[in-house]
Amino acid sequence: MMGIRKIIQLPDRLWRRLHTQGLILLYHRVATLDTDPQLLSVTPDHFAEHLEYLSEHYNPISLSELFQALKAGKIPDKSVVITFDDGYADNLWNAKPLLEKHGIPATVFVTSGSVGSDREFWWDDLERLLLLPDELPDQLELTIKGEKWNWDLTGGTANRPGQGYETNLKSWDVTMASDPGPQYTLYRDLHRHLKPLPYEQRESILSTLAQWAGASKIGRETHRPLTLNELRELDRGGLIEIGAHTITHTMLSMQPVHVQKEEIIQSKESLEEILGHKVKSFSYPFGGRADFNRKTIEIVKEAGITTACANYGSTLIRNADPYRLPRALVRDWDIEVFSSRMKEWFDE
Ligand SMILES: [Zn+2]
Repeated sequence: MMGIRKIIQLPDRLWRRLHTQGLILLYHRVATLDTDPQLLSVTPDHFAEHLEYLSEHYNPISLSELFQALKAGKIPDKSVVITFDDGYADNLWNAKPLLEKHGIPATVFVTSGSVGSDREFWWDDLERLLLLPDELPDQLELTIKGEKWNWDLTGGTANRPGQGYETNLKSWDVTMASDPGPQYTLYRDLHRHLKPLPYEQRESILSTLAQWAGASKIGRETHRPLTLNELRELDRGGLIEIGAHTITHTMLSMQPVHVQKEEIIQSKESLEEILGHKVKSFSYPFGGRADFNRKTIEIVKEAGITTACANYGSTLIRNADPYRLPRALVRDWDIEVFSSRMKEWFDE
């Protein structure tokens, strides 16, 4: 198809209109949060509106149905698959009732090592330890991968009560071009540093940070992952499928093969043990093109997984690779924005 496209120079828009048959949406959380620097959460009201719109204008199908359709070489027109990454408890309490109300299936990709943990996901920990405290020490020194790093937070009053603290904290997110205080820059820097690290090194830095910030390692109730029973409850009823998302949410491409194997195979097996049935799908943590590699895909295939999702936006075409399924990231959009994004994605 690419060849024909090149020869007759079909405009991209037209080419996509002729070939787009489906879309996988990527959500993380359904909750109302005070702060959301990674823009991971959609409010329950907005999520309800998204679902209503999808059920009226599109054809929501499950990831398993999509897999069957890809095998058959024909995706039903206007197919939309809903997925969630990470395994937050709000997926059960806030998302599932709304999905049930509309009879819309979804797949939740669960970070198995976080199930039942009293810790937050590491990016949430960074927010809690670096952005939420009223005061932080002026200096931070860390050794990361043998290299010494220093941050000077002197004058970091932007985050302190009475100094624009509330406004900055509630309105700031990582897509913004500027940082209202040095702790926001620190948050960005450490997010970048921690992402490729092996689990043990990441944990050791988080421990150091908790001590430095004078904060507990125990996470916020609002940010907790699913418990064991909640995971089983989420899986019950057949509308929601559970997929694997590694044990420790590591950047797979940066890990040696034996660690990749452990992260993929053991996360799948431990979920299967909890749920009492097979787990067939997977999503790559972070999911960007640089976050997994050819070896990752090989291991995923060998583990008996049939569909694996990435996190870069493009629509589904008939011959999509089931081990590199594209997904479109959904933000906390109201219905006007959501519907116009849907139309753009389907090029309507
Ligand atoms: Zn994730």
